[in-house]
Amino acid sequence: MGKPTGFIEYKRQNKKELDVAIRIKNFNDFHIPFDLDTQRIQASRCMNCGVPFCQSAMKVNNKNVGCPLSNLIPEWNHLIYLGLYEEAYKRLEKTAPFPEFTGNVCPALCEACCSCSINDEAVGVRANELFLIEEAFKNGWIKPNKNIKRNGKKVAVIGSGPAGLSCAKKLNNEGFSVTVYEKSDRFGGLLMYGIPNMKLEKDVIERRIKLLKEEGIIFIKNTKIGTDLSMDKLLSGNDEVVFACGTSLPRPLTCTGCDAKGILYAVDFLKETTKNLLEAKDFTYNLKDKNVVIIGGGDTANDCCGTSVRMEAKSVLELEITKEPPLENTLPWPNYPNKKKTDYGVFECNTIYGKDIRRYSTTIDEVIKDLDGNIKSLIIKKVNFEAGKFVDIPNTKEEVPCDCLIIAMGFLGTKDEDLSSYNLKSNRNRVILDNFRYNDKISVCGDMKNGQSLVVVAINDGIECANQIIKKYEVK
Ligand SMILES: Cc1cc2nc3c(=O)[nH]c(=O)nc-3n(C[C@H](O)[C@H](O)[C@H](O)COP(=O)(O)OP(=O)(O)OC[C@H]3O[C@@H](n4cnc5c(N)ncnc54)[C@H](O)[C@@H]3O)c2cc1C
Ligand code: SF4
Ligand code: SF4
Repeated sequence: MGKPTGFIEYKRQNKKELDVAIRIKNFNDFHIPFDLDTQRIQASRCMNCGVPFCQSAMKVNNKNVGCPLSNLIPEWNHLIYLGLYEEAYKRLEKTAPFPEFTGNVCPALCEACCSCSINDEAVGVRANELFLIEEAFKNGWIKPNKNIKRNGKKVAVIGSGPAGLSCAKKLNNEGFSVTVYEKSDRFGGLLMYGIPNMKLEKDVIERRIKLLKEEGIIFIKNTKIGTDLSMDKLLSGNDEVVFACGTSLPRPLTCTGCDAKGILYAVDFLKETTKNLLEAKDFTYNLKDKNVVIIGGGDTANDCCGTSVRMEAKSVLELEITKEPPLENTLPWPNYPNKKKTDYGVFECNTIYGKDIRRYSTTIDEVIKDLDGNIKSLIIKKVNFEAGKFVDIPNTKEEVPCDCLIIAMGFLGTKDEDLSSYNLKSNRNRVILDNFRYNDKISVCGDMKNGQSLVVVAINDGIECANQIIKKYEVK
């Protein structure tokens, strides 16, 4: 199976990207797909390992290693190499409900533990996955399943993020009548209103929602459960209720002056910007010619960098409280690599502003306001992590200009007011659960259960949650 020596003959190629100066002029996807020959050659690098770690769905040192969906990676890599694309897609769809989401935004946990990466570079699995799903849509291989035999059971899924969607899809396929409730004006959760358009174009989400509707799932938007529709009503009208509401409580900034005007939470900023773009309106939060500071160093902060530079911010500075990661990976295969990464948004800022915009071991000491209460500047300081906490390094305070501060410091769980409107018992903003189950009628999945995680983890969680419900109603 496979081209036995592909991994020796061919080097990994990454998809080409538009030049930074060109791509920051808009919010479109900037990757250039491979031609068919290159795609096949890249797939031929797969060694079809006897024990394919890429699809292993394991945890090593408490970190996800291998595809959480256990995607049948060596099989579809081989079929791509043979040019049997439809067959390859059929293998992909067995385990992956939304490859167009993961093919665009997954950090490719599979590639981090690919055997090829021990001595060389990993197989480009994610690019192969995206290629297959786009071929499938283009060639009409995806048809809505309209002949599902209904089992008479009704399920309400609250939240239309990746967890809610995968749970709804699985239950619908098994014959449950599913209604998805979404408080926002568009479906998709953070796929729609978190991850920016240049990383995941929004018509990709709408294309999938249309298919799910055609398969019989009912979608209701602008309806917040607990406020617009009570839990009592929902429980009395359904056999099962699934919460997939994500993490609604961002970690706040607590230093002096943190009530200044001009401080935004990252998801509010990213959501509003995507909404403005989709509705062709002026930006609500326009950062043109502003000195922007982003606190936090993860995916969300990176997306804020990419968004700020597209809005033509005057300067962008990213503050990260943890130490600068090593330049070379310090962890052996198959661990997820521990090294400094420069994702697209930071790379774009570094290119445009001519220097690395990141400051490590740095946090905010004080927000300085003008007489009207608007943010004017920040006093920042260096810190060390000692004996389990961050300690100030003396004489490192410095004032930096700041017209807009964006907080991207992660999430703490579900807001207290939301939890009480759902009548759910919780501990430190997390619902108290036995696996996925809260009681005999209510389940919880995705980020609401696990805390902030990844799209692929949320999708897998939705499927596993659905499996438990399916098992409960199985005819013995
Ligand atoms: C800016 C940003 C960038 C990210 N980038 C990546 C990335 O590149 N790759 C990656 O793998 N992961 C990324 N993530 C993480 C990923 O998006 C999440 O882990 C994932 O979306 C969680 O899925 P979920 O379905 O559990 O929740 P969400 O996607 O948060 O969806 C929850 C949904 O529930 C709705 N809801 C909440 N309460 C109610 C209610 N009472 N009634 C009705 N509806 C309700 C919300 O409006 C929302 O639509 C990113 C996260 C952020 C914030
Ligand atoms: S979902 Fe992510 S981990 Fe799984 S095969 Fe795709 S890119 Fe790899
Ligand atoms: S680990 Fe890498 S080389 Fe081995 S089967 Fe998976 S993708 Fe192919």
